[in-house]
Amino acid sequence: MYKYLIVLNILCALLLSSVAHGQTCHYQDWHWNVKQKRVVELRNVVKDYAMLTPDEVDTQSGCSVCVEDQQVIRLSGLPEFSVCKRYAPMVRDALERLIGQGEKINSVIAYRVGRTRGDIDARGNRTGFSNHSYGVAIDINAGHNGLYENCPQFGAHCKLVHGGPWRPQHDPFSLHREGNIVKAFTHAGFKWGGEIQGKQKDFMHFSLTGY
Ligand SMILES: [Zn+2]
Repeated sequence: MYKYLIVLNILCALLLSSVAHGQTCHYQDWHWNVKQKRVVELRNVVKDYAMLTPDEVDTQSGCSVCVEDQQVIRLSGLPEFSVCKRYAPMVRDALERLIGQGEKINSVIAYRVGRTRGDIDARGNRTGFSNHSYGVAIDINAGHNGLYENCPQFGAHCKLVHGGPWRPQHDPFSLHREGNIVKAFTHAGFKWGGEIQGKQKDFMHFSLTGY
């Protein structure tokens, strides 16, 4: 009888901890300040899932800014990264296949919370979460696939503002429109930042919307 009570106790503890885990959301919030050009107001957020605001959940994917909605992916030869659980099997399988085919991948960053887009408040802080904040955007080989501004069409006039230079003719880590990495992710429904319409080109970046 005593043994059964112990087992029952353990089961109850497990159940309670899993419920509590599912109800609490953790993430690290910050704003990009466009005047100071740096990260400001870094803080740890802990809140009940029921209290999440609409901007803390991506309507298109259902993924949230919470660490609890993310899954860590570990692949040989790559630093670990996290991606929204819903996309984790697809992203892991695609990258495993690409690495197996000999594609050059040395860095992947997906989940990274930050308010780097949208409206700017009176203090110069960006207020909108990036797609990376929900774990639904993926940067591949950032050091070889930069983010460029003033770049409606790629050329010498484009200004590199983040990451390393994009040199698809010379650098095997630079992504290419006809390459296997871009094809694998666009087939899976992601858009490539190298084909964004407008003044930015973000060659490292894949997301469901392209931004
Ligand atoms: Zn990105």
